[in-house]
Amino acid sequence: MSNQTDLYTDLLGRQRTDYAKTMMLGARSIRWPQDRLAAHRQSKLRDLLSSAVSKSDFYRKRFDGIDVSSFTEADLPTLPTLTKSDMMDNFDDLVTDKRLTLAAMNKHLEHLDTDNYLFDRYRLVSTSGSTGARALLAYDWEEWCTFAAIATRWQSREVKELPPGHVTASFFAANPRHVSGALNSFFHNLPSDSGQTFLHLPASMPLVEIVGRLNEADPLVLSGYPSLVLLLAREALAGRLSIRPRLISTCGEQCGPDVLSAVHEAWGLGVYDYWGCTEGVYAFPCGVGSGMHIPDDSVVLEVVDANGNPVPDGTQGEKILLTVLYCKTQPLIRYEISDRMTITREVCECGCAHSRITNISGRSTTSFTYPNGTAIHWLGMMGIMLATDWVSESQVRQTSNGVEVRVTTRGLKDYDGLRSRFYTLLQKSGLTDPEVIVSEVSSLDRLWSGKLQQFVPLAS
Ligand SMILES: [Zn+2]
Repeated sequence: MSNQTDLYTDLLGRQRTDYAKTMMLGARSIRWPQDRLAAHRQSKLRDLLSSAVSKSDFYRKRFDGIDVSSFTEADLPTLPTLTKSDMMDNFDDLVTDKRLTLAAMNKHLEHLDTDNYLFDRYRLVSTSGSTGARALLAYDWEEWCTFAAIATRWQSREVKELPPGHVTASFFAANPRHVSGALNSFFHNLPSDSGQTFLHLPASMPLVEIVGRLNEADPLVLSGYPSLVLLLAREALAGRLSIRPRLISTCGEQCGPDVLSAVHEAWGLGVYDYWGCTEGVYAFPCGVGSGMHIPDDSVVLEVVDANGNPVPDGTQGEKILLTVLYCKTQPLIRYEISDRMTITREVCECGCAHSRITNISGRSTTSFTYPNGTAIHWLGMMGIMLATDWVSESQVRQTSNGVEVRVTTRGLKDYDGLRSRFYTLLQKSGLTDPEVIVSEVSSLDRLWSGKLQQFVPLAS
């Protein structure tokens, strides 16, 4: 056990050193002009396609006949799109390291109680995204360094203004299978050399406990899901939370006007809201121009209508297609994500030529509130679904004293295990003898947009 711990500490230390170098290079690309970014993307795209066609059986068949050497970004719409089910149904053929079978990845994640590597180099994360379908992602060594650098390249600019030694408190998922848990472990499991102190509180922790810990730590930076930031702002307004934060960032859910006004009222601050997804991209506001800057050196985001046709710059689409230029282990080429987005390619007032997401909708998340005042945050429920590998899609519906979990499944099923995990969550949260119904369905009801509402509260 201690040898394993030593090995993990050694790997983590080495990877963080490599991350620091990647981070410096990535930060420089913020200043690249559009033509340099475009040339860089072009070369990375050919590189990605060539690797996918030569090492992935799935892509070799799918892209049969394309001439990689002359392929341009403008040719992307000629390639088929990749849905989450395409990826999961063809997983073993799609990845470029044959050891990374779906079975091997599920086995690793199933036993992942704390952060760890697979084959001493891969980091795995699981996502249900905003659509309720489970997906697994594998990041090789350098790919993880790049992903972590994309997740931090803008934030570090903001934090520079704050006094050394300040505390940053974050409250996202703590589960190591979830991308926020994995990134948090990557940054915080070793002492920080930046002079910051990090306090990571699992978002599923009872609110009263979070408030107590924050009052003790007195952080200057708060970072978490908007739904939690809203609760904390209300705690501050009620006089129970006495901190004076100087920077508040949110991610992972829609940040609505209720959050903005509560934060402004409580602390006189705006909210630094950013967007990200487990599949390899984060976008950040610069604080000067509007919107969030996309890392144009690392990904291609195409905004398309419901039929997959590109929409003009500055127009809202129905979904986006993501091509992750730096991930060759599990290539994602025109991968469908159901966020409805508007992107502008106009150079920002801040001088940065990276394109910007100027509007986004489609990420809705919901807490369930019961007549006795018990509130169940979506995160606890999602944590259960992420650990359930025989479920392909799920929808959790609130009932008068519990939940109904509707699932579509694959492989061996463990209904009792799933029922018991929900029962424990609901009971610990404050429901007496909660009702938990697990039902298998052949398909789940979708919204008009084709999107699945993963958590459905009881109609009031
Ligand atoms: Zn800007």
